Amino acid sequence: MTEQPVGILALQGDFALHAAALDRQGVAYLYVRRPEELTACRGLVIPGGESTTMTRLMDIVGLRQPILDFAAAGKPILGTCAGLIMLAARVDEDERRHGVKPLGLLDVLVRRNGYGRQVDSFVDEVVVAGRADPVPGVFIRAPRILEVGAGVEVVATWRGETVGVRSGKVTGLAFHPEAGEGESWLS
Ligand code: GLN
Repeated sequence: MTEQPVGILALQGDFALHAAALDRQGVAYLYVRRPEELTACRGLVIPGGESTTMTRLMDIVGLRQPILDFAAAGKPILGTCAGLIMLAARVDEDERRHGVKPLGLLDVLVRRNGYGRQVDSFVDEVVVAGRADPVPGVFIRAPRILEVGAGVEVVATWRGETVGVRSGKVTGLAFHPEAGEGESWLS
């Protein structure tokens, strides 16, 4: 039997970069735009993009509950940048104003665009738990992790600040590994 593909939520954002990263690693992927597609996957990537739009589209296509069920079934989920925002428990803005409704799968508080605007985007070394050498982290209007809940593990830091977290099989990164390291983060 061939292995199930890794799903990439392809409603909006940089899903094609994730696809290219998985391709480079020889990992089969499937774009997920509806619940039936998610059922066929062994893991899910929620890409970077715009969390306000992603919230709207996720609810329009009816993927919110299936993603929560997917996580509850113990399947791995990786969220990068806007994907981290979608996985978070809390966003530190008035929800009625920003319109982001996160999934609440990672007990963290995040601030959207917490490192500044597009012009403040940067690439810098990120220290990853269990790795001797730092990896390049691409931060594009990245969310800032302001609070980390007790059961949440820190898996990546930038200048001592938490930029990657994991809780069980759910991982959220403020930066874009698909520009370099890819989905080894899913396992
Ligand atoms: N600032 C975006 C948001 O709020 C995230 C940016 C990104 O994913 N590169 O959703």
